[in-house]
Amino acid sequence: MAEKIKLRFKDKSKAEFTKGVRAEDVVKQKFKKQADKALAVVINKRVIDLSAPINESGELGILTFEDEAGMDLFRHSSSHVMALAVKRLYPGVKVAIGPSIEDGFYYDFDNLRISDNDLKKIEAEIKKIIHEKLPFIRREVSKQDALKLFKDEPYKLELINGLPASERIITYKLGEFEDLCRGPHVPNSGFIGAVKLLKVAGAYWRGDSTKKMLTRIYGTSFPDKKMLSEYLKRIEEAKKRDHRRLGQEMDLFSFHDEARGFPFWHPKGVILWDEIINYWKQVHKKYGYGLVQTPILLNKDLWLRSGHWEHYKENMYFTRIDDVEHAIKPMNCPGGILIYKCRLHSYREFPIKHAELGFVHRHELSGVLHGLVRVRSFTQDDAHVYCLPEQLEQEIINIIDLVYELYSVFGLKDYRVELSTKPEKHIGSDEDWSKAEKALENALKARKIKFELNPGEGAFYGPKIDFHIRDSIGRSWQCGTIQVDFAMPERFDLTYEGRDGRKHRPVMIHRAILGSIERFVGILLEHYAGKLPLWLNPVQVKLLPIADRHIGYARRLAEQMRRAGIRVEVDERSETTSKKVRDAQLERVNYMLVVGDKEEEAKTVNVRTRNNEVKGPRRVDEFIKELLVEIKEKRIK
Ligand SMILES: [Zn+2]
Ligand SMILES: [Zn+2]
Repeated sequence: MAEKIKLRFKDKSKAEFTKGVRAEDVVKQKFKKQADKALAVVINKRVIDLSAPINESGELGILTFEDEAGMDLFRHSSSHVMALAVKRLYPGVKVAIGPSIEDGFYYDFDNLRISDNDLKKIEAEIKKIIHEKLPFIRREVSKQDALKLFKDEPYKLELINGLPASERIITYKLGEFEDLCRGPHVPNSGFIGAVKLLKVAGAYWRGDSTKKMLTRIYGTSFPDKKMLSEYLKRIEEAKKRDHRRLGQEMDLFSFHDEARGFPFWHPKGVILWDEIINYWKQVHKKYGYGLVQTPILLNKDLWLRSGHWEHYKENMYFTRIDDVEHAIKPMNCPGGILIYKCRLHSYREFPIKHAELGFVHRHELSGVLHGLVRVRSFTQDDAHVYCLPEQLEQEIINIIDLVYELYSVFGLKDYRVELSTKPEKHIGSDEDWSKAEKALENALKARKIKFELNPGEGAFYGPKIDFHIRDSIGRSWQCGTIQVDFAMPERFDLTYEGRDGRKHRPVMIHRAILGSIERFVGILLEHYAGKLPLWLNPVQVKLLPIADRHIGYARRLAEQMRRAGIRVEVDERSETTSKKVRDAQLERVNYMLVVGDKEEEAKTVNVRTRNNEVKGPRRVDEFIKELLVEIKEKRIK
């Protein structure tokens, strides 16, 4: 009788199959509707082709384009399709490598001299290959055979020569093009619904500037044309909204080679910053937080004790003070804990809520730095809540309420929430974990919040809730997090005196809401395409005198508005009014007030908005009142 294997599935069902069954056949039987979307199979956390046999028992799932790993596999498979197209059109090319990257893929070629103008032709050939539905065929060969097979491909030979002699080498054949690749891939080229080639660039072989410059073609791909065109529209829109450009146009911040990855804030940027922070502080006080501030430099002993020295050292910066090694804090928790430990605590004081706008430094590789979104120093809107075990659920609810209040005031109302639970490697007892997980889950349910469950994805020290904000063009940003921590209270021996007069461990919650203020400014700018709500905008009103003789009236109005608390500028250049209006619109000023003879005589202003609405003449005092209401209520228009 044929040997059997036992497979478990995500829905907790189990089934028996004959050993060696094709992955595809299992998927067809078990995944029914989803089966068509399957790109590959995951068996015991290992990804294999749909055409591969299954010889072991265990857990089986599928990868679709919606999974990150599935998307990578899809994009990587697309790079083979592109390489085949290039080989057909330019028979003399030598192939190097073709990985997937964020949002797409590339392939490097030698002996290929093309420009962006040639991409259309290659795309057309790719379309043909997609229609041909060519299968990806896997082979295992010896190193010797591989050297023979790739004798005309010097880059492949170099890669093969780098492998041990005994290594079984894997190739995949797509049509007439056999490539050195470990795989896995989608079943056939028909899966790659739509491809767009983006650009041609030069790239050194193996990223080494002493080696040959190759021709790299970048592209992206999607299961269908609709998804591709939506993506292309989104990147076009994203380019227009790039916060680095907006930051320059609005004169908010800059970056300099003298301090790579560390932002410089200009006066207008600091106004925006302060508005965010002032509101943040106000709402934290309302929710019963005390604000604390801890030093940036703390000595080695502390970081040893916190575990950062052991686990986080490569991301930290160091210096010596009086011959003692110090580190710049990458996180605020250890410093905050010293404040807790200053004195004895009683159960009666709980919950204790300490919030800190903590300025942290983390080393990031220069290649990943990106405007305000990825920096080397940033301000976390951090807080640590210490509470009794029985208070945990209510405290989580309070934090969730605060999270939603903050986000909605900034006009961010589309969220995705994830609950991540106990990973294999963890500290703390199973009982503590399940209590904490239950508290997080109950809190989400109490607020009727839909969430995705990520089993096993929690931090080693505790379960967590993550909040992802979706911006106005559909991009998702992870900002807020609520984490229960079993580790720090142990490491720092945190205690309180309970009802029984004995010492107990408090529950510690870490939480951040906006995440990094720097990054949040970037998100806000891109979300609003720079058109910030009135209360946040560094310049709220611009006065535009029609001629020089109206400058006096404009200045007097500006003074009156400034005294009322409105941020206003006068455009005193001798430009035409329409030019002044256009420039003010570019600066994303909320209101433009045109003033000339008529307005001066009637004590009015002629109101326009940055969206080209002409509101017409308004009485100055009335208009000021309206602005103050719009600011006070933090209206979003
Ligand atoms: Zn491959
Ligand atoms: Zn913390």
